[in-house]
Amino acid sequence: MVYEKVFRKNINGMLEEHFFQCPYCWEQISVLVDTSVQTQSYIEDCEVCCNPFRVQLAIEERQLVYFEVNSIEQ
Ligand SMILES: [Zn+2]
Repeated sequence: MVYEKVFRKNINGMLEEHFFQCPYCWEQISVLVDTSVQTQSYIEDCEVCCNPFRVQLAIEERQLVYFEVNSIEQ
């Protein structure tokens, strides 16, 4: 119960779902963006085709101001 409350608060306050197209299969997928961190770069797997892609983003005043997704050469 305590965990659930903390999780909900976090979703509302710091995490924002951002939708974009996968660079491999072109399906619309989403990532959860932590708006408390200004610049981020990380690797995620597509939830549809499971290929890895690099996400780069920037946050200003809790708003997503830059978002880029690139496929990773294997
Ligand atoms: Zn995909």
